[in-house]
Amino acid sequence: MTQQVTRATFDEVMVPNYAPSEIIPVRGEGSRVWDKEGKEYVDFAGGIAVTALGHSHPTLVNVMREQAGQLWHLANVMTNEPALRLAKKLTEKTFADRVFFANSGGEANEAAFKLARRYAFDHFGPEKHEIIAFNKAFHGRTLFTVSVGGQAKYKEGFEPTPGGIAHCDYNDIAQLKALISDKTCAVVMEPIQGEGGIIPADKEFAKQVRELCDKYNALLVFDEVQSGVGRTGTLYAYEQLGVTPDVLTTAKALGNGFPVGAMLATEAAAKSLAFGTHGSTYGGNPMACAIAEAVIDIIDTPEVLSGVNKRHDLFFEGLKTINAKHNVFKDIRGMGLLIGAEVVDSLSGKAAMFMKAAAEEGLFVLVAGPNVLRLAPSLIIPETDITEGLVRLERAVIKVLASEAA
Ligand SMILES: *Cc1c(COP(=O)(O)O)cnc(C)c1O
Repeated sequence: MTQQVTRATFDEVMVPNYAPSEIIPVRGEGSRVWDKEGKEYVDFAGGIAVTALGHSHPTLVNVMREQAGQLWHLANVMTNEPALRLAKKLTEKTFADRVFFANSGGEANEAAFKLARRYAFDHFGPEKHEIIAFNKAFHGRTLFTVSVGGQAKYKEGFEPTPGGIAHCDYNDIAQLKALISDKTCAVVMEPIQGEGGIIPADKEFAKQVRELCDKYNALLVFDEVQSGVGRTGTLYAYEQLGVTPDVLTTAKALGNGFPVGAMLATEAAAKSLAFGTHGSTYGGNPMACAIAEAVIDIIDTPEVLSGVNKRHDLFFEGLKTINAKHNVFKDIRGMGLLIGAEVVDSLSGKAAMFMKAAAEEGLFVLVAGPNVLRLAPSLIIPETDITEGLVRLERAVIKVLASEAA
């Protein structure tokens, strides 16, 4: 029996941890989405940097259908070919020698942080357990990952949170130097902070973080859950920083919306997650891995990756043109197709108004904190959709300014 559901149903039956928009999308194709009423939207959000190949990508739909007719699930007491193929590809294409599969970014990070603790425990003893992370960082919503994350609001009321975690400012090497010690087991960072406001790491900072980790025998963990899988124009953002981590986490775009995450690690680090130390019921299931393998095959090509940089330029030009007319952004920044536009001081705290107005005009965008409008579109978004989306964005900007003036 099909039940009638509306947006009001959400408020009746769902835990109120989200406040979803009134729009209920029912179908997507490429970078366009349609809602229940048939209204069409241009998608500059991609979920949250997830649908890097857009909606209903024909190859992915086929791979999914084919795998669905073969094998969905096995416990990890057995391995499976899609997982082995995907792991092989990820190790061939990155610094890593070993892969652990999970189902989300948070879980991949949970594995990375546990690995860091265990590695230090194995090699240096229990005293070396401190994790250093950065203010404004986002690493997920499990208790360990909100604790390593650098945003107090996600921890509030959930204390006691795990201990042995310290924070300092991103891109401030002096603060890190003051914190790091022989007790540090890992430094955890996003190569470009996503949720924190689209803030790229300085190259020099990243290089010195690496040096400090080496000096103190701490693992360097890069959280590339948002920046990975082609988002910044290289398969992973670390390639552009000129710094290689010991451990890297990836999720979001990896499954293009099908839940999958992975932790990649060097041989030396991976050894510490020995038999029986960690696991996941669904991690590495053949469905997720078959889809992720196809995602990597499509994205890690010169055409798609150079297309990211080409589109980056189109978005920057478009945003600058809008700004030249309306003076709403004080900074436009980002890497590849992870783009942030920070609103001017007079609109401080009001980035969400643009998101709402954009949806009314038929455009999905995101925010990253109260002051930054965030764009994370499909890496293969057609130029015509970029143009049309920017037209709609300008209409949204005009609308917000009009309502502010009123
Ligand atoms: C989204 C995100 C996460 C959390 O991923 P989930 O799949 O929601 O658990 C972790 N780290 C970063 C950098 C992210 O952007």
